[in-house]
Amino acid sequence: MHIREPRNRSLLRAAWAGCMALFMLLALAGPAASSPTQRARYIFLFIGDGMGMNLRRTAEIYQAALHPAWQPALWMNALPAQGLTTTQDASSSTTDSAAAATAIASGQKTRSGVIGMDSQAAAPLTSLAEIAHARGMRVGIITNVPINHATPAAFYAHVPSRTQYDDIGQSLARSGFEYFAGGAFLQSAGPSGNETGLTALAQAAGYTIVEDRAALLALQPGSGKVLALAAAVQDGGALTYAIDRAPGGLSLLDYTRKGIELLDNPDGFLLVAEGGKIDWAAHANDAATALREVLDLDSAVREAVAFYYRHPEETLIVVTSDHDTGGLGLFLEGGAFQPYITRLAAQSVSLYAFGQRMDGFRETYPGASFSDAQGLIEASFGPSMVNSRNQAVLENAFALSMQREGLHADEETGASDPLGVELSTRLAYKAGILWNTGSHTSLPVQTSALGAGSVLFNGFYDNTEIFSKIVLAAGF
Ligand SMILES: [Zn+2]
Repeated sequence: MHIREPRNRSLLRAAWAGCMALFMLLALAGPAASSPTQRARYIFLFIGDGMGMNLRRTAEIYQAALHPAWQPALWMNALPAQGLTTTQDASSSTTDSAAAATAIASGQKTRSGVIGMDSQAAAPLTSLAEIAHARGMRVGIITNVPINHATPAAFYAHVPSRTQYDDIGQSLARSGFEYFAGGAFLQSAGPSGNETGLTALAQAAGYTIVEDRAALLALQPGSGKVLALAAAVQDGGALTYAIDRAPGGLSLLDYTRKGIELLDNPDGFLLVAEGGKIDWAAHANDAATALREVLDLDSAVREAVAFYYRHPEETLIVVTSDHDTGGLGLFLEGGAFQPYITRLAAQSVSLYAFGQRMDGFRETYPGASFSDAQGLIEASFGPSMVNSRNQAVLENAFALSMQREGLHADEETGASDPLGVELSTRLAYKAGILWNTGSHTSLPVQTSALGAGSVLFNGFYDNTEIFSKIVLAAGF
């Protein structure tokens, strides 16, 4: 099972988590957690892209079922302030990431696709990151998808379209923010699109560039401005999905840990961290992968909570999402869903990685039959996926997979390998999970907070108010 850690590590983690949970309870009991009079000097803003509250809750149930001793199962759900946040944008009741990130970053509604500008895409909107930077705080922007993707871009760029990747990359170099970390740069279509050019531009602007985990970990405080990219990316310039990550692979947690180390200073910092692949896995309706991505983001939240205990009077942690993706539902099967959800752990690869495996299989065995693929199916989705009732459907999907190429999980369309779709959908159903759509939904999202000013984040409010609440908490 992919989640299981070596016994000693898992014991250590359980012990550590137990200590942290005790600290957390003490913090909740005292006034330090939520007094609105303290000024937030160290601000963490976590954004789970596509992380609906249903995904959060299901990830929590999944973790609790797999590891009952780990407390809390999901740190973000254990934070003392909890709210619900509406996400509609200026053009639609169902937002995209660009408009939602702009609302969170700048407190203004804009149209889908617009980055850091008003709803006419005419005037730039000042972002929280720019305000914090102008006040002398250090600023870090982290994601596990491309660093010039919509969500991080809304904190440092102002462009009419999220696809202006060159312009966004140039804005990054000009921003002067102290720390950027993400996947590769995305390129714009056309002759000006040049990823190397954007990296060189950042270098010319004074950024130290690191492109792998060893170089990242070697950075010391005082390194100056840093741009951490990933030379090895998985799909669409993003870091590898948590479910596919080899031991020691670069992660959002690495970026967060290093970010805290580099940004920590008496004048404070703002660290924005996006879990961008929750959305991608949810578009693909890939439940096991999406839940692992939520847990991966939560490990970065846990790191921020550890920092909070060093500066409890002056730290604010906010965890939110830009929108729900997929409309995932957890249903009761037989009145005892907890044992069922653990079935999801049989899936050991993302739908994307399974598509790559199918590509390799098709090339190696062009005339293979369904029975030849049993080993591949078992290795990816567990031993009990094929039975007499579903064999015909799976054989049909296998035939489609053998005819088609390059049908990996795709961020925009959710198109995936046909056999992988059948298998992951059936496994999720066995685990009690159904998806509504491969698109975004208009469900409110959950916003959580801990620390200075966190009490502001209780209640029911719009995503534009996340901006104003942070401004208030920080005394900007
Ligand atoms: Zn999306």
